[in-house]
Amino acid sequence: MLIAVDRNHNLINAEFAHKKNLYFCPSCQNKVILKKGSKKMAHFAHDQNNCCHSFSEGETNEHLLGKQQIHDFLINGGLKNIKLESYLPTIRQRPDILCSKIAFEFQCSPISSQRLKQRISGYHQLGMTSFWILGSPYLNRHLSLKQMIQFIKYSKNFGFYIMYWSTTRCGLEIHYQITEQSGKFNFRKIILYNYKQFKLFWNSNHIKSPHCHPSDILKQIKQIQIKLMHHDLKTIQFQMICYQNGHSMVTCPFICHYPLAEMPILGHQILKWHILIILNLDSGIPLKELYQKTFEKLDAKNDWIMIKNVEIMYKSIFIHFIKLLICFHYIKIKHYRLFQLKEFKWYLDYFDKTSQIKNHFN
Ligand SMILES: [Zn+2]
Repeated sequence: MLIAVDRNHNLINAEFAHKKNLYFCPSCQNKVILKKGSKKMAHFAHDQNNCCHSFSEGETNEHLLGKQQIHDFLINGGLKNIKLESYLPTIRQRPDILCSKIAFEFQCSPISSQRLKQRISGYHQLGMTSFWILGSPYLNRHLSLKQMIQFIKYSKNFGFYIMYWSTTRCGLEIHYQITEQSGKFNFRKIILYNYKQFKLFWNSNHIKSPHCHPSDILKQIKQIQIKLMHHDLKTIQFQMICYQNGHSMVTCPFICHYPLAEMPILGHQILKWHILIILNLDSGIPLKELYQKTFEKLDAKNDWIMIKNVEIMYKSIFIHFIKLLICFHYIKIKHYRLFQLKEFKWYLDYFDKTSQIKNHFN
């Protein structure tokens, strides 16, 4: 911890504290020890036997340093009322940085989803929002789907994003427009060194439509073929649905592959969804029924912690494809019911499909 209370009840930053004075924890009121060494920046620590629920001991230097840097980043941006490690007694939580009704948390260590939800709802109880900024243990590796589920957020201006703080560069790194393509996460990134840059980024639109190259589609088709050959359970299960309709997953119409880059919330299943949609296009089917009938066959998760209205996003993926089918005159829509105008072209087999795509684009 960086902040302690002195004998006169003043909050003191460890940087300006003296070893000869006595200091106390703002949360549990117990005595804390000032540590000023060469390995870590100046900080306070509890007695070894103490169990204080607000401050975990063994804070890394990165955590101590990052907190101070993020605090300075906000202060230098001219924001008022910013407090470091301010203790909120009613919810017994202590955000790393508090800026009026916004709590900033600099998360450097793994956290369980249950604990994360508890802390977010604690802030909600006080009518506050929380911003979670991740440290180097997250930044320097590929995030797993589980971590994505915990921390990914969405903005209309720059799509799905995750925020990081780099203590070495002293800047806010934002990975944005995160998409998934054939099981791999792609993103664009920016590093912001001051609050002015941050505000400018935050309030303007940065979405670029991701380009989709035919070679990416060929790669996707090949991947499915490999999965089928290796008897990947989920792919085989889906293949069974296709067989029941007299088709194969690999030979699906070309249009099913668009868009190739997926919203990460659907976890690699957009192609399956598109195939299900065209397999279930019974004449006159209501739009809503087609959505429900096809969506329930997907393995969609609803436990995205920091994304509100995930349902609306699923619906927008669906509508996007329906619009594409209308645009290419496959279907028309009348009184919220769908009517097919022309047949979809399924390919004969894997080789037929890949060679036709290659010929078409060469
Ligand atoms: Zn304490």
